[in-house]
Amino acid sequence: MSKRKNNGFKKRPNKQFKNQNRQAGTGKQSQGKKIATTEVTCQGLTSEGKGIVQWDGKQLEVEQLLPGEKAEVTIYKKGRFFNAEIKRLINFSDDRARQPKKYDDECGGCQIQHMTYEAQTRFKQKVVDDLMKPFGKPEPIITMDHPYDYRNKNVMTFGLNKKRQIISGLYAPNSHRIIPMMGSIIHDPKADEIIQTVTDLAKSFKLQPYNEDTGQGFLRHVMVKVGKKSGEIMVVIVAASPMFKGKKNFVKALRKDHPEISTILLNINQRNDSMVLGDQEKVLFGKGTIIDTLCGLEFEISAKSFYQINPVQTEKLYNEAIEMAGLIGKEKVVDAYCGIGTIGLVASKKAGKVIGVELNNDAVRDAIRNSKRNGIQNARFYQADAGEYMTQLAAQGENIDVVFLDPPRSGSDEAFLSSLVKLKPSRVVYISCNPETQARDLKYLTKKGYEVKRMQPVDMFPQTSHIESIALLTKQS
Ligand code: SAH
Repeated sequence: MSKRKNNGFKKRPNKQFKNQNRQAGTGKQSQGKKIATTEVTCQGLTSEGKGIVQWDGKQLEVEQLLPGEKAEVTIYKKGRFFNAEIKRLINFSDDRARQPKKYDDECGGCQIQHMTYEAQTRFKQKVVDDLMKPFGKPEPIITMDHPYDYRNKNVMTFGLNKKRQIISGLYAPNSHRIIPMMGSIIHDPKADEIIQTVTDLAKSFKLQPYNEDTGQGFLRHVMVKVGKKSGEIMVVIVAASPMFKGKKNFVKALRKDHPEISTILLNINQRNDSMVLGDQEKVLFGKGTIIDTLCGLEFEISAKSFYQINPVQTEKLYNEAIEMAGLIGKEKVVDAYCGIGTIGLVASKKAGKVIGVELNNDAVRDAIRNSKRNGIQNARFYQADAGEYMTQLAAQGENIDVVFLDPPRSGSDEAFLSSLVKLKPSRVVYISCNPETQARDLKYLTKKGYEVKRMQPVDMFPQTSHIESIALLTKQS
């Protein structure tokens, strides 16, 4: 670990940026015509962590530039839009991190890894503070002690390199070029190792990557899920057809190299959208699911259901959210957008009754299994659109005391929020992975008789610009 934090950078800044430019340049051929090279000073950050500069009376965004830093930038024009890219950094902010591992810049997933962790948390705090200003002042963000290696799920796509050999990696931003991704600072290192073995085996078994344009080929993706506490590991091979030639030997060879693998699945994906997994799956080895422990409960996780990707921070998130709900053991609680039932099941120990609602069938099945596995008898789970389900509860005149909601990035919807208002729970705990849509929904609820009592950001996604945020609302009397 120490090697990771201290490597590179030092007094060779421009070499670092030369590299970065080359990488960024290859990934973004679509960025337009080069029109100028100029010196700029960064004046602030966008909510995505990009540097803000002024040029020719315009405000431009520059990736990886920090406030106070001066840089020579290249300006590009595409249609009516201007882009700027660092050519050479002239001075360095104290907030700049030592250069991390080499591939991350390219995939674009770790948007703010060029900042020290302290600067990252300051940046996230400011984004949340600004967005939530109308509702009060959020608490200091809950940080992660070791903000690396945290992801419990790695997914890579197969493709061909220039020598037409099969490789796996992530797509470069705005492109169909695959970048090999071994050594990301946020991936689980064991998962990356297994993905490398799967790729090597694919080569020796002469398996062809699937080509989205021609529809030819077989292997599409490989996904590895790791139970960070249990140590159980799931490998999902995603292919375009169920005809996996040599699958028995493939599985045997993979298990020989990695006896730590608990289960291997084949997922068939014949879709032509950006979804990684198809509906059909076949267990090739083991029981098809893995177990992990969160907040003292065991959860069974299947290939297709959602499970928080940073379990260390998830425990802090759930503990905080459940504490905010102030449960005393009698309440009727709704856990909306419940996934595999994690929040509701952890809360069930302190509640009278829990009703979980979730759209994804596999997740609901996991939630029901999980309540049985943990001997929980006061929780029920339903497969439905959360908005429709709440509308139904409101129409039935149900008595609900507390609502947890944890919607996807797009936030909740009018059907859900208006029914929530009709149900009149005394407390609402809104967990969100997108504070912008959360602020929009809080605005709605505060106009309809709710008051924001507390806001708690949590850093669930270190090195990236994503922010998780909890808000507690109470019904005004
Ligand atoms: N609370 C869970 C899951 C949060 S992620 C956890 O902490 O793990 C958001 C979940 O909302 C996903 O499981 C997704 O399948 C579900 N979802 C998305 N749209 C939905 C809708 N319209 N109704 C109900 N659930 C939905």
